Formats: sequence, C-alpha cells, structure tokens
Amino acid sequence: MAFDLIIRGGTIVDGAGMPGHRADIGVSDGIIAEIGDLSGEAATETMDADGHVVAPGFIDGHTHMDAQVFWDDIGSNSCWHGVTSVVMGNCGFTLGPCAEQDKDLVLHNLERAEDIPRQAMIEGIPWSWETYGEYLDAVDALAKGLNYAGFVGHSALRTHAMGERAMEEEATEEDLEVMKGQLADSLRAGALGFSTSRTSSHRLPSGKPVASRLASWGEVEALTAVMADLGAGIFQIARENVIEDPEERRAEHDQIKNLAVKSGVPVTFGGTWYKRPHPEAWRTQFRMVDETIAAGGKMMIQATSAWNGSLRSFETATPYDFISVWKEFRKKPLEDQEKGLRDPKMRAKLIDAVKNHVHKPDPKLPNLYQRAVDWDWVFPYDHTLPPFRSISDVAKERGVEPIDAFIDLALEHNLKLFFIQPSFNDDQDYVLAHIRHPHSVVTFSDSGAHVATTCSPIHGHLLGHWVRDAQAIPLEIAIRKITLDIASFWGLEGRGWLHEGYHADICVFDPETIAPTLPVLFHDLPSGAPRIKQKTDGIKATIVNGEVFMRDNEHTGALAGRVMRGPLAHN
Ligand SMILES: [Zn+2]
Repeated sequence: MAFDLIIRGGTIVDGAGMPGHRADIGVSDGIIAEIGDLSGEAATETMDADGHVVAPGFIDGHTHMDAQVFWDDIGSNSCWHGVTSVVMGNCGFTLGPCAEQDKDLVLHNLERAEDIPRQAMIEGIPWSWETYGEYLDAVDALAKGLNYAGFVGHSALRTHAMGERAMEEEATEEDLEVMKGQLADSLRAGALGFSTSRTSSHRLPSGKPVASRLASWGEVEALTAVMADLGAGIFQIARENVIEDPEERRAEHDQIKNLAVKSGVPVTFGGTWYKRPHPEAWRTQFRMVDETIAAGGKMMIQATSAWNGSLRSFETATPYDFISVWKEFRKKPLEDQEKGLRDPKMRAKLIDAVKNHVHKPDPKLPNLYQRAVDWDWVFPYDHTLPPFRSISDVAKERGVEPIDAFIDLALEHNLKLFFIQPSFNDDQDYVLAHIRHPHSVVTFSDSGAHVATTCSPIHGHLLGHWVRDAQAIPLEIAIRKITLDIASFWGLEGRGWLHEGYHADICVFDPETIAPTLPVLFHDLPSGAPRIKQKTDGIKATIVNGEVFMRDNEHTGALAGRVMRGPLAHN
C-alpha cells in the first residue's frame, strides 16, 4: 500500500517506555498504519529521521488556551515545543457555561488569576455559546494546528448558576442542583472532567477570591460525585497554599485523599513544588499520593521540569515597578529608560529607592509582586539550560552590589535581557525527585496564561537537560511522562503512543541538540498587548493527525488539529 507519509530510519521511542529501536513509520488518513521496515514502500511524502528520535507528539495536560485558541490558530507557544495536544480549562477557569451578556463574570476570573489581558479577550473572542458543549462546538469549528481537550471549570459553573453571588457566598441547594446539571451536560458534550481552584493567588481584579474559592468542600465533593455517577471524567484541583502549618496541610491532604478514594474519580494537581523556606513540605504531598493509591484511589501529580516563576525584564516588569520612583521612571519609553540608567544621578536615585524599600506583599498587586527579591535566586537568562549563575554570583565576580549587577547586565543587552525569578522549584535537585516519582507526569507549561511574565519550555528542558546533559532520566521514561502517561490518566483515547491504529501525532527531534531558545517579547495579542515567545531548537518536525504541522519549528500551513472529547460524547 502507498502511505501518505513515511518517516524513515528514526529511533522509535514509543511513549509506553519500551526501549528505543530503529524503524520506519507509515501514516495513512491521519492514523499510524504501520511501524517496521518499510524500505520497499512508497508514500506521498517521505521524511528522513536518521539520527533523530521519533516520539509521540507531546501532550500538555495543564494549559489555559481557552481564550487564545480563538486568535492563535497555531497554538503558540505550545506548538514550538513538540506539543501536539493540549488540555485547557484548568483551575476552574472556562469560558462556558456562560451566555455572552454575562461574559464579564468569566473574564474577571481569567484576567487576573491567569494574567490574560481583558481587552485581548474582548476583541479576540467571537462569543457564540452559552453551554460548555456549545463552547466545544465553537472550538471544533475553528481551524487549529493542535488538538484541544478541556475541563469544565468550577468558577464558570458557579457564575452561570449564581451570577454575582458566586463571588460572594456559598451555594444554596438549588444553586448546586443547577451546577450539577450543567456539569453532567458538559461531560456528555465532551468535557474531559471538572476543574476547580482553592489557591490564594487566584483572585479577581479587585483582589477578592475567584468564584470557586467561595465553595465549601461539600460543594466540591457533590460536583465530583456527578463524575462518579456518570462513570467518566477526571478532577483537576489547584490546591490550597497550605505550606506553613503541618496540621492544616495534613487536613487538606486528607480531604483530597478521601475524595479520591471515596469517589474513585482520578484526581490530578500541580503546585506540589519545592519551596525553599519549607524544603520538606513537598514530601508530604507525594506521601498523600502514595497513600491515596495504596487505598485504591487514582492520583497523578503534575510536575514540571525546571523552576516555576516569572521572567523579569525592563521590557516587561522588573521586581521594583511599584516603588514610586521606579513607577514614574518605568512609564518612559525604553530608550529613555536606557539613557536614565546610564545617567549616574538617575541611576543613584533608583538604587537608593531599592535600598530603602521594605517588601510588603500586597494582595492588590499582581502575583509577581508578592515575592521579595533574593538575588541569590535570580538568574540572568542569557542561556537556557543549567547551570545558571545568580545575580549575587555575578555581583561578587564584578565586585559590585547585586542591584548594580542587575542593571549592568540589563544595559549590556540594551534592556532586552530576561531574568528568571523562581517562585517554586528554585533548587533543581528537588525537581529531579519530582520527575522521578512514579505517580508524576511532566506537564504544567501553563501555556495561554501569564503570557507576558513567564514561559515554561518544559519539554526542551526535560530532554535537553535532564535526559542528555545530566543523564539523570532515561529518554524512554522522560518521553512516557510527557505522552502516554498523560493520555492514559486524562482519558485522551488513541493518543500518546506510537502504535498501529493510534492517531499520527508525532514529534521528530534531535536528542543531541534539543534545547529551549531564548525568549523574545512581541506585541501581537488582539489588543496589541505583549507576550513572550519562546521555542525549542532541535525539533525537526511536529506532525498532528498525520499532517506535518511544523518543520524546524516553522508552520507549514497545516491546521489539522481537532477537539478531543471525553468518553461520554462518543456514546
Ligand atoms: Zn492553571
């Protein structure tokens, strides 16, 4: 038979963890038709994968692409990292169920908690739905490069049922019945599951909690029970930030564990990460997962592969933008700021302001201003894989103060250099322990959210640093944790495995060169708002549903992505 596409001579790393082996892959009608020696076979298109790894396309289980999918058909930045499928609707934030006249309610939830500019959403989203199923239909009708699945979000269910009261109070019995009905309808229409947030950083623009944070735990249990009754769906939770008090932490863990064991619903969450002031807290969270699984529940941790935090720069946001002297200075055009920083008087004034500044976390400010600056843990991002040198290291070497080193480094790059300020996972040894845990996957790019303040090239970091440079994780296991483990736990049928009959979502990359590129700032959101673009080098091709979507990370024009609906939609 003649194939549509043959990928020849690559090392097949199948996603299930089997040892890599040399073989060809034949693709027909978007499906993997044959894996083996296809040397005598013909195809419309042939790709030489000699010296490359051929893996399933990576799956990102934690994104917030719900809004972006309407204005960005290629699905950046995910599309530049070997990703072929994304899951949106995490942390309780979805655009449905919600009628157009009420859209302020769900936009409020998203704009502050996930830093998605409100004006971009207003200009970029042609609203055509009320129910979650109608939202999925709208995404289905879009031309798109990636495959999309989604959770239905608790905050949206709440505002749909309760209006403004969703941000103020607990649900009544009647409210809860409405939510349960909408959740069941959403699952039948193809939602993968239900998501919520109880995290203190998830706030409205006013600083008040997002709608899902007003819910009692009983409400969360009642909604999860809908999935148990229907026998489908997974539960994603952005957990409470209880890290200080071990007893509170234990209580929170027991709550989630009991829900998982009692309901039998698969539970997944991120935010299990290492924090320096509480170096052992993450272990108790992994223990909860082990205990849940030992008791017969299902639970999966969304680990990441590197630090998690913000990128700072003079082009975007510095840590000091809210000090009054800086606030005024930062309103100037970038060239004027560059001149100012080179002027000894202006520079001294700015540095004095920093030295006299007392850090007081203020919930009214965006999340990235809640963290004090510790120069031992801020890193110039002038290369993308470890080891990184801190600002303190550079300052010591140059015999200057850290704030001077920060300003000098920025000036040496015409203010276009980014700096990493981690909020979690500053210490990479712990990140490795998280990745190695048997009940973790590597996901949580958070793609679609915080687009001007962060970027998480998790796949290039995993494969370039942990697999190749550090030799800390076998390639086959790393690939499994970004493909089949996610597809299986999340319920993405027919994806994540290089196997005959599976969808032909494939990533072809060079294991010797794969690495993230440096991030660059663009102003190309629908409202002209800024966002950071970052790619991963070494990816020869990304194939979605049998069509070559990216070649050397340049879009080919193919837009063969689909909506991946949950199991109830197929019955
Ligand atoms: Zn999230």
